[in-house]
Amino acid sequence: MTRVVVAGAAGRMGATTCDAVEGADDLELAAKADPSLGVELADVLAEADVVVDFTAPDAAPANIAACLEAGVHAVVGTTGFDLDAARAAADGARGDARVLVVPNFAVGAVLMMRFAAEAARSMPEAEIVELHHDGKLDAPSGTAKRTAELIANAGGNVHQPIHSVRLPGLVAHQEVVFGAQGQTLTIRHDTSDRTSFMPGVLLAVRGVASLPDRFTVGLEGLLE
Ligand code: NAP
Repeated sequence: MTRVVVAGAAGRMGATTCDAVEGADDLELAAKADPSLGVELADVLAEADVVVDFTAPDAAPANIAACLEAGVHAVVGTTGFDLDAARAAADGARGDARVLVVPNFAVGAVLMMRFAAEAARSMPEAEIVELHHDGKLDAPSGTAKRTAELIANAGGNVHQPIHSVRLPGLVAHQEVVFGAQGQTLTIRHDTSDRTSFMPGVLLAVRGVASLPDRFTVGLEGLLE
């Protein structure tokens, strides 16, 4: 049994993750950490093989550092913090613990990003519109920033700014629109329920220990 501690366990994503871990035969929900539960991650880190972090941009970097210090693998879904700084901190850490940061755990979103990179090779001019619930703290979303990076790596040109819509009634949605002479191509992904993220979260929990690098961004390596 892999012992899982969820940081941000009282939040929207954390609570859904706790349910998913409890429903998995090969995983044990060892503890829940969250300020509103009165439990600090540091108090329960010793009970974890893997920590899943769905907290906040100002909390995730310290949680990652604590995991590395304790030799515990970290699966991080939190977005909106400095990935380059987190990578540098991880590279300087000792031990074998792995950090996997996943801007979007939904398989459909991973495919959207892959198809967008493919489209950029033939239709390089692109705009990104991301739409989320009004409780989301960061803008643009981690998914949008990751999509822009993948499109740029493929030779595309994402026009700035990325458009961020925040409204009640939304969960997580993104459109990538490519324009060329006389035509557009739109690739769109919609998340209507947070359970859509859970197969990806469980895949990450099961696979994080086997990753070759200390710090990895994206679920792609575990999906192939
Ligand atoms: P949320 O409902 O606000 O939940 C965050 C929870 O984390 C809150 O209960 C918060 O407590 C708690 N928290 C804050 N600091 C903490 C710390 N140091 N240790 C433990 N818990 C702490 O937010 P959410 O909607 O679940 O989203 C969480 C993050 O996941 C966001 O960054 C969001 O963008 C991201 N997200 C990622 C994906 C993905 O696929 N990667 C999908 C959806 C969302 P307080 O309220 O008391 O501060």
